[in-house]
Amino acid sequence: MYISDCNYHRPKSVAETIEILNSSDNAAILAGGTDLLVEIKKGIRQHSDLVSLSDINELKIISEDNNNIYIGTAITHNEIIKSKVICQFLPCLSQTCAKIGSEQVRNMATIGGNICTAASCCDTAPVLLAYYASIEIASKEGNRTIPLKDFFVFNKKTTLKEGEIVTKIIVPKPSKGTGVHYEKFGLREAMSISVVSVAVNVTIENKVVANSCVIIGAVAPTPRISKNATDLLNGSNLSDLKEGSKILEKIGQAASNDSIPIDDIRGGAQYRRDILTTLTQRAILSAIRTG
Ligand SMILES: Cc1cc2nc3c(=O)[nH]c(=O)nc-3n(C[C@H](O)[C@H](O)[C@H](O)COP(=O)(O)OP(=O)(O)OC[C@H]3O[C@@H](n4cnc5c(N)ncnc54)[C@H](O)[C@@H]3O)c2cc1C
Repeated sequence: MYISDCNYHRPKSVAETIEILNSSDNAAILAGGTDLLVEIKKGIRQHSDLVSLSDINELKIISEDNNNIYIGTAITHNEIIKSKVICQFLPCLSQTCAKIGSEQVRNMATIGGNICTAASCCDTAPVLLAYYASIEIASKEGNRTIPLKDFFVFNKKTTLKEGEIVTKIIVPKPSKGTGVHYEKFGLREAMSISVVSVAVNVTIENKVVANSCVIIGAVAPTPRISKNATDLLNGSNLSDLKEGSKILEKIGQAASNDSIPIDDIRGGAQYRRDILTTLTQRAILSAIRTG
């Protein structure tokens, strides 16, 4: 349970970070360390160089312009919860961060670390996907921006290449009439990893769902869009989307059909499918209420 010898770096800028990452064969970025250090201590990962983000102020900024919110990847979950801009424009993200781990974990753990670990059960990814987020990636070749949905490849696998760092999360400001809601089902209320999760984004115009997105989490190798649930939800009349209604049940079932859950210590595959059916319906009704 000890961390083996390694070089510890504390660069002051993204440029310096990229230089260090490219000068080592086996470096890892260290943000809050709540995933990485656990894996190193367990012997799952070994690195010759750890590059801490703790002194890089440019990664600790939340800003906005007319169209977007920009979240630096070294922002902690507790900083998200306290941010006025996030509370105003992305309240569901703030509420989601409050459901992560414990106070101590939220003080250390970053939003960048959460998406870069890319665990299928991570909590911020479904919500950021529901907000149609993109990420900015920096490397020695320059910066590139990709939709977050193209980042996740498999459980704990992303498209990030060696020598790259995720610097920003870019979230378009939701339009009027849009509601986003996240439902997390864990085995207890606090300090609990998601067994099943659903994030829903709905935009209502003239009492009809004009646009929507249903994201399912912890029930496939990556958080993913449930295309069938989204297709059914789009164009639905608000008056039909009531608790226990046929259409709502059908959408819940569609989300469940789009899942490919596994059996593990937290729950069986069928258990997850059943919960997902109900959770999806709940998330839709709550998203409509918040819109
Ligand atoms: C007790 C406990 C409870 C937890 N509960 C939850 C929970 O309820 N929900 C949940 O989703 N997670 C939970 N986690 C997991 C963890 O806290 C989160 O995933 C956290 O957000 C990870 O962030 P970090 O800053 O600690 O990342 P780190 O551990 O520092 O890094 C994680 C990975 O991301 C890479 N990385 C970090 N930042 C960047 C970057 N900017 N660019 C490129 N790569 C980067 C690192 O190299 C590493 O591979 C829990 C963990 C613990 C220990």
